[in-house]
Amino acid sequence: MSASWQHCASCAQEIPETDTHARCPRCQGLLEVRHPAPATTGAALRALFDDRRGGANHRGPYSSGVWRFRELVLPTAADCILTYPEGNTPLLARPAVSAWAGARELLLKHEGHNPTGSFKDRGMTVGVTQARRIGATAVACASTGNTGASLAAYAALAGLPALVIVPKGKVAVGKLAQALAYGARTLVMRGNFDRCLELVDAASERLGVYLLNSINPFRLEGQKTIVFELLQQLDWEPPDWIVVPAGNLGNTAAFGKALGEARALELISRLPRLAAVQAAGAAPFAASFREGFARRHRVEPHTVATAINIGNPASYDRAVRAIRETDGVVTAVSDDEILEAKAVVDAAGIGCEPASAASVAGVRQLIRDGTIGTTDRIVAVLTGHILKDPMTVTFYHQEREPPPPRANRPVEIEPTLSEIERELRACLTT
Ligand SMILES: *Cc1c(COP(=O)(O)O)cnc(C)c1O
Ligand SMILES: [Zn+2]
Repeated sequence: MSASWQHCASCAQEIPETDTHARCPRCQGLLEVRHPAPATTGAALRALFDDRRGGANHRGPYSSGVWRFRELVLPTAADCILTYPEGNTPLLARPAVSAWAGARELLLKHEGHNPTGSFKDRGMTVGVTQARRIGATAVACASTGNTGASLAAYAALAGLPALVIVPKGKVAVGKLAQALAYGARTLVMRGNFDRCLELVDAASERLGVYLLNSINPFRLEGQKTIVFELLQQLDWEPPDWIVVPAGNLGNTAAFGKALGEARALELISRLPRLAAVQAAGAAPFAASFREGFARRHRVEPHTVATAINIGNPASYDRAVRAIRETDGVVTAVSDDEILEAKAVVDAAGIGCEPASAASVAGVRQLIRDGTIGTTDRIVAVLTGHILKDPMTVTFYHQEREPPPPRANRPVEIEPTLSEIERELRACLTT
């Protein structure tokens, strides 16, 4: 099989697939991975992917929800693939969540079901596979938490040393715990995420460490499979909308690329529209969208949704393209809306971390303002697991004053049967 290659979106330079730079060596622009056309398209390609999903692949790379789509991810990686496996996440329908959002058909693609609890694993299996292919001696990333957790786990799998840089006080406890537990060298920096990324970007080039932030184009190849997999789960009948939380814009960019390729290869016959949802306190992309992308914004970010607490998104240019090419929209929701959406998703028995709930809050807002129709078919992506950020849950339900409308306060009782009976009765009558 002939090799893929990398293309610079800024200066059109083409470099080999196995070049070790995370950015264009000529202009420092962002790179894009391009693949040779697969041997088949349309129904035959769908059948190839559908066969691999079937019974015979309980083990090996094709049991992964990423590598099942190998021809569109990294065709030549065959014998060095590093996989848990990951992906194969559920597509959930919950009437309570649809009703809250005002949607007739809202499905939730729960990426919290990945090995380390977020979609980052889909990008990391490809990124760390590529690190091994190019003979990297160490890997590094800046992270709001989940990238670090994922890199730490996949580096352990690869037997590579990992360096993770996180902003002090702005990382949910579950994520920091994972980075430490999986054995990454973890640096806690006084500063925000954007500064962490700037520094690790500069340091990795100088020290020859392979950078695995989402500026790395191989990460995005893996993250495209969220879209391929959800289309496959819908028997290749595309929804009207795909809604995704947006921080550093890696996923928004990956989704746009995936949809463009799915259409070009006739996996689907029409394009769903993309909706990227930011937190109002960290919404530079939404600000640019409102101005028709006339200019790029940078902000000092502040949101409870730490995974999208980003003020200068690295994949801005790629994401603009994704929104334009899918006739997409970008919006922002407040922290209170995010937390209410999260409480609804949690109480439906699903659960997700705060950033993930931005997609559901975004669906409600876009239906209310008429952008999304009430009968449109919608898939919202839940990006991370509920246990990533237990402190936010505890604060919402147990501590916040006055209690928010959906707070579920624990009731403290004396150790008597009568108190239990009283509470049980109250429980049965409500
Ligand atoms: C990384 C992450 C995001 C943001 O994704 P981007 O690709 O940076 O826009 C959203 N939610 C969760 C849970 C994440 O880990
Ligand atoms: Zn370039």
